[in-house]
Amino acid sequence: MLFCNIIEKILSVIYPDKCVLCHKINFENKESGICDECFKKFIVFDDEICKRNFMENNGFSMFLYNSEIRDIIHKFKYNDCGHYARVMGMKMGEFFIKQNLFCPDFIIPVPIHWRRKMKRGYNQTEIMAKEISKICGIPVVNNLLIRKRNTVPQFGLNREMRIKNIEGAFAVKDSGSLEGKDVVIIDDIYTTGTTLNECIKVIKSAGVKNAYYFTLSSTESFIHK
Ligand SMILES: [Zn+2]
Repeated sequence: MLFCNIIEKILSVIYPDKCVLCHKINFENKESGICDECFKKFIVFDDEICKRNFMENNGFSMFLYNSEIRDIIHKFKYNDCGHYARVMGMKMGEFFIKQNLFCPDFIIPVPIHWRRKMKRGYNQTEIMAKEISKICGIPVVNNLLIRKRNTVPQFGLNREMRIKNIEGAFAVKDSGSLEGKDVVIIDDIYTTGTTLNECIKVIKSAGVKNAYYFTLSSTESFIHK
């Protein structure tokens, strides 16, 4: 588990500006963390798809979930590579501004259970949300939406099982501070939308006016259903 982190940390001291994916040292836009060659392997949703998703489904995603995105998500979920989430968060922040579809009052990352956070050492959606916030200037609210139940991972479950697995997993603390606000919920992947829909249901019941989602990736190349 720690192997990636140790190697990455050593490399980041020797080569502070390397591409996080191919470890190339000399490339343009070093502050983005990913070189152009690596970035070309990602499939970014075009403006039209984002706009249609937002209009019809109250949210949008940045990348199509392909093998490169799968590797990145796997790294920050299971290989102690939180800096990948940081770099992806920076990309998401730039994309969020470029799309300019809505302007929420708060950014809320999908919470993980405290036991899972303790084991992983971080919540990757919190890292992404912080980076988006730095770029957009919209504050992150971390402690209002909580995961009260440690659910099994949604991966491998069908739609009905996912809905049952996630039902009642979230709660809102101090709902008064969300009353009448517009929020955007951040997650790493949109598959069936069950996790995000459950989060939206819970925060809306706490008085949120409009709840949108914005995810790093989506398994669908067409508009979300
Ligand atoms: Zn690269």
